[in-house]
Amino acid sequence: MSVLVVGSVALDSVETPFGKADDVLGGSGTYFSASASHFTDVQLVGVVGNDYPIAKLRELEKRNVDLSGIEEMDGSSFRWRGRYRHDLNSAETLETHLGVFSQFQPKIPDSFKSPDFLFLANIDPRLQLSVLKQVKRPRLVASDTMNFWIESRRPELLELLGHVDLVTLNDGEARQLSEKTNLMQAARWIMERGPKHVIIKKGEHGAFLFREGNIFFAPAYPLENVFDPTGAGDSFAGGFIGYLARTGDLSEAGMRRAVIYGSAMGSFAVERFSIERLLTLTQEDIEQRVRDFRQLVAFDEEMPG
Ligand code: AMP
Repeated sequence: MSVLVVGSVALDSVETPFGKADDVLGGSGTYFSASASHFTDVQLVGVVGNDYPIAKLRELEKRNVDLSGIEEMDGSSFRWRGRYRHDLNSAETLETHLGVFSQFQPKIPDSFKSPDFLFLANIDPRLQLSVLKQVKRPRLVASDTMNFWIESRRPELLELLGHVDLVTLNDGEARQLSEKTNLMQAARWIMERGPKHVIIKKGEHGAFLFREGNIFFAPAYPLENVFDPTGAGDSFAGGFIGYLARTGDLSEAGMRRAVIYGSAMGSFAVERFSIERLLTLTQEDIEQRVRDFRQLVAFDEEMPG
């Protein structure tokens, strides 16, 4: 089944306690595509400036990512500069340069207009809304956002919530959006505005899947070396949606399994800068990590006597 993603295609400059990278491939759409492409074909829509190293992005084409929805505009590409201190769970944004994104009007190619799954990755909620209006209603529409847009585009974001089936956010964003400190209450607040499902990610502390009357929790994979957390959230989303698209199974059990695949993909993304690890990953690597997850949470309900 097809997956359409609209998101940022960025050049990231990142500082972590372990090193620095300048102007490397990043963006919510890029990470999502690199991750989801391990499960299904992906159609990516976004914009880059004429300074973008497009040849590097084309690596994704070898992985069944259709880039015909990438527009090249005169001007500079979207750039994000961020830093992580020893607490790798939260990024500190040092600079967001919208560049060509500030004039971008997404035009969904005709061949992309009937996706089975649509992921509105983190970008301006106005663009997320405009994409939604251009496509035939998919089986599942999911969206993501971040503090930058919660602060600057709150009304549009609330409008969007009324049109999506599932929202993925990290804990800080869920609290900021709902103005609730308690995550259960935050999830309820979001679901009351439209989405039937809410995923709240807590970095190295795992992820919750909320749905009316039902909560699932998956731990994060306990990696000994987290190198660069950038893109963990989008790679999680890519694994989650990619797995749903591969199986077509939107049951409770299917969604729970998808959360584990999402967690596995997030754990790979943070092992290197940029999308490097996602490009070298094999199916066997993914399946092994999923088995490791099973082992991590396996326990015997009978208490030993
Ligand atoms: P995450 O998966 O949450 O770590 O997202 C990381 C990606 O988000 C980076 O590659 C950035 O390029 C991208 N990003 C940062 N700020 C924004 C923004 N305001 N809008 C869209 N994408 C962004």
